Order: sequence, then structure tokens, then C-alpha cells
Amino acid sequence: MRNDPTRKTAAAAPEAQSGAANGEPLDFIRSIVAADVAAGKHDGRVVTRFPPEPNGYLHIGHAKSICLNFGVAAEYGGRCHLRFDDTNPLKEDPHYVESIEKDVRWLGFDWGRHLYHASDYFERLYDYAVQLVQDGKAYVDSSSEEEIRRDRGTVTEPGKESPDRARSVQENLDLLERMRRGEFDDGAYVLRARIDMASPNMKMRDPLIYRVRRVPHHRTGDAWNIYPMYDFAHCFSDSIEGITHSLCTLEFENNRELYDWFLDQVHVHHPQQIEFARLNLSHTVMSKRTLLELVEKGIVRGWDDPRLPTLSGLRRRGYTPEAIRAFCDRIGVAKRDNLVDVSLLEYYIREDLNKRAKRVMAVLRPLRVVIDNYPEGQVEELEAINNPEDPEVGTRRIPFSRVLYIERDDFREDPPKKFFRLAPGREVRLKHAYFLKCEEVVRDDAGDIVELRCTYDPATKSGSATDGRKVKGTLHWVSAGSAVEAEVRLYEHLFLSANPAEAGREEGLESLLNPASLEVVRGARVEPSLATAHAGQRFQFLRHGYFCVDPDSAPGALVFNRTIGLRDSWSKIEKKQQP
Ligand code: ATP
Ligand code: MG
Repeated sequence: MRNDPTRKTAAAAPEAQSGAANGEPLDFIRSIVAADVAAGKHDGRVVTRFPPEPNGYLHIGHAKSICLNFGVAAEYGGRCHLRFDDTNPLKEDPHYVESIEKDVRWLGFDWGRHLYHASDYFERLYDYAVQLVQDGKAYVDSSSEEEIRRDRGTVTEPGKESPDRARSVQENLDLLERMRRGEFDDGAYVLRARIDMASPNMKMRDPLIYRVRRVPHHRTGDAWNIYPMYDFAHCFSDSIEGITHSLCTLEFENNRELYDWFLDQVHVHHPQQIEFARLNLSHTVMSKRTLLELVEKGIVRGWDDPRLPTLSGLRRRGYTPEAIRAFCDRIGVAKRDNLVDVSLLEYYIREDLNKRAKRVMAVLRPLRVVIDNYPEGQVEELEAINNPEDPEVGTRRIPFSRVLYIERDDFREDPPKKFFRLAPGREVRLKHAYFLKCEEVVRDDAGDIVELRCTYDPATKSGSATDGRKVKGTLHWVSAGSAVEAEVRLYEHLFLSANPAEAGREEGLESLLNPASLEVVRGARVEPSLATAHAGQRFQFLRHGYFCVDPDSAPGALVFNRTIGLRDSWSKIEKKQQP
């Protein structure tokens, strides 16, 4: 293979190891699961889940978690649930639920009948809370959320116990019941776990369990005036569903002690939590809060802006689920946080599209060419191979005529050294067609080049000359009479900084944005076979890269997104790293 990124390199996850299928050593999570299955733990069952909060769109980081959870379940004969951790009605929206389901399906995973919601468990969660109160393990606190924060202490100092900690069980039960009935305003009371205000683990300092939020929930309507905190709902939801391996990202390491505590108090099924490193990708951001900000400030055109790392953005950009899954498989799972270079993701989409995308010709910035020795009014159909990587997709016919467009950049009046394209007096090859020679340059009154007068050699239809003369450049082109006008959107990294989340901490993210992340090219010309291309269809524009039809596109008003250029910077990165 030309350049094999499946060789481990330092730029990706050095500890990453692939799954069981290819005979390589198992990653640390699969090793644990394999050992559990072999030992008959949980009767040899494997049940995982992907648990999004419906407060934003999924991104490529979530894809890592989805591939891991669904992948592990499939490899060990288990199942994976899709569960919405929908405990915060203020931030959630059914619209996000729809987008999440769509994206998980698009990635290629199926939860079957195992679609769940933390809100399905609100009644049971409440019962668990009542049980904690009855056992003296939880209390109703009238401190404000601000006072609670203030009294939490610091990593070096213990927190302060709330005066309400001593409230009687009876009174706690009564207040909790009234909180539920909606007798109190938001913030008047909270239910807290009674654990240890001096614990070295801040998560254990009497964390909140319920707070009053007199707002409707998108699934339970007006039934509740209190909502469980994420930490309380999450671990019990896992338990209720019989999750065996609860895979989560590293920032939940400290939560594990709390989850263990909750589950131990009420003696219920205890999933095993295993933490792995989040995916961080260079030149982009992955925090939902930041993504929402970019969307709300209009810095991008929406959650599916092709510059975002969201799955809907990547889909719109032309990424395939296969490429994303291959990428996730390659990065594997590890215990240490790192930043994966976005060019590795780009490598996988190039690999995939190289196999499946039809090669077509598109001229982004047209320059008119008139072939003086070609008969006026004649149109000739030439045969073009659709994809040299896939002979099965065959050939198509493209029209050739006296007036063509070539790429403005493919002509230089004063060609520098190593410029092998068209120049006055020089001959080049037109892809799938003839040799073309530039005889004369035509300018407008302002002195700008508007047209080239050329000649062609009818004896070069096969792509070479009968007298053996050689040309160094091969240009793409379209026939002016039949080409279709199109808008082409070119994308670059959204951020100039490789690690904007880190670099933007002080100056703010906006100063790190790449002002050239989107370039809209109007008046491009594409070959007529593209006239009926529909949204989502993918092509390789010869010499330009991979493109896909945008949903904004319509017959007569085609719009293409550039998925990725042809140049493979990943191979360069690999070369640089070789000693
Ligand atoms: P929030 O800040 O809203 O909690 P989140 O990215 O954690 O954002 P969730 O909806 O809670 O969003 O994520 C669902 C699952 O995806 C969680 O299990 C989380 O650990 C996992 N996940 C989120 N981001 C990444 C990432 N960058 N890499 C790997 N897994 C991730
Ligand atoms: Mg989360």
C-alpha cells in the first residue's frame, strides 16, 4: 500500500489497538470484556449502551463511543441500548432526539427494540430517592445552589456541612413529597445525598440528587416538578437496564465512587464502569456548548455545517459512515487523552471515496478555449472511464466540441519552471480527448485574458501522438455548449489553531477561527452527466478532489461541497515522523 496509516504512529493513539476481528491484540476494554465473558461474569452476558443527552447533535467524538459500545456488544454476542439521558428539560429538545437517532442509524448501528429514556425511569428513580431518605442517606436542603457551591470546600479544604443535614427523616420525606407536588419554587429546595463533606473526592461531598424545576419535560409533560441530577439518573438507569459494562469517558473517573455508593445503598444490579479517553480532533472543537455557540452566533450555518465535526456536518460534507467507522477502529481506545490529527480522518474518507466515487470533470474557474481547426457546430461523444478503481461501473460518454472551458489556473502566459500545463505555443493533453496547442491569447479592453485560441491534433484521440511526441500535462475540461453551471463550496479547517479548545481559553475561540474556512465559487462548469445529480451523491472531480451534492442543490442550480482534496497530507506527516 502507498502509505499505510494502520501502522501505529505517534500522531494517532499510540496505545490504540484494534478489535478482535483482525487477530491483533485486544484493546484494554475488550480484554476486560473477554475475560468477564470467559469467567462467566453476568452469566457471560454483555450489555452496553450509548447514553446521549438530547441537548445537541452528535459529533465524531460520539461516533467513537457509538462504535465502541455497539462494536463490543456485537463482538461478544451481546446487545447495545440507545438510551437518552434526558434529565434536564431546560436544555433538551425532541429535535435533538430525532437527529441523534438518525445519526446513529446512519453510522450503521441498530439498537433494535432497545430504545430507552432516563425519563422512563423517573418513578423508579424517585422511589430510590425515597429509600435513601428513609435510610438517612439523603436530606432536603434549603441552601441555595450558590451556597452549596460555596460550602463545597476545595481540593485541599473540606466542605462545610449544611444546617439542614440534621433534618429528620420524617420532615425530609414530607418536603420531598411537596417538592414533587410543585409546592416550591425553583431553587427553594434540593435533595442531597448524605455522604461526606470532607471526602477527598469532591463528587462525594453531599451531591445533589433532585432539584425543583417547574417546567414541562418533552416526554413526561407536566408530571414532574422535580428532576433527578444526571449523576443520580445515569448510574441507576444503567442498573435498571442490566448494563454489564458501562463504558464512559475519563472525566467520569471520579464519578465512579459516587455511582458505586448510590447503587450500594439500594442494593441493585451493579454495572462495571470502565473509562476511556475522549476523542479530541485537531483544528476543531468537540464541546457541545461551544458547538451550540458557533451555531447560535451564526459563525457556521447550522449544526450540519460541513465545517463542523458533527455527524450531520460530516454527512453533508460527503463523509461516508464506512470511513468514519474505519477511522474509529483505527484510533482504538486508550486510557490517555490525546489529540488526533484531523488528517487521519481525511485519509480514511479519501481511501473510501477513491473506491466508490465516479470520476467526472468539473472546471471551477473557467477559461474559454476555442479550437480553431475543429469544425463549427460539431459535437463528438468521447468515452470516459467512470472509475479506474472499479471497472464494474463502466464508462460514460462526454461531449467534445469546438469551444471548451479549462481551468484558469491551468494556463500561464509566462510559465515558471516545472509548470507543465498550458502556455503560449505549448501542447498538453485533454483528458479522455486530444492534444491541444495554445496558439494565441485573447484579452479584453482591461487587458485580462478572456479566451485562448488553440488547435487540436485529430490523430491523438487515443491520448498519444502517432509521431511519438510527448506532452507533460493532462488537463480536465468541459464542453462549453453542454456544461452545466454550478456553485462549489470549498472548505478548510474551521480553526487555524490545532487545539482551539486549549488555545482559546484566554483570547476566546473567535480569534482562532480560520477566516478562509469557506469559499463559495460561483459560475463553475460541470460536465452534463451531473445535471441530474441528487443531494448526497459523491464524485471525484478530476484533479480537484472529492465532492458531494449539497441538499441546497436543485436541478438547474447545482451546489457541490468539497469533501476533501486529493492531496494526502497524512502520508507527509508519517514521513516526517520517520527517523
Ligand atoms: P455534555 O457536555 O453535554 O455532557 P457530552 O459530549 O458528554 O456532552 P453526551 O450526550 O453526554 O455528551 O455524550 C454521550 C456519550 O458520548 C457519553 O457516554 C460520552 O462519554 C461520549 N462522548 C462524548 N464526547 C466524546 C468524545 N469526544 N470521545 C468519546 N466519547 C465521547
Ligand atoms: Mg455527557
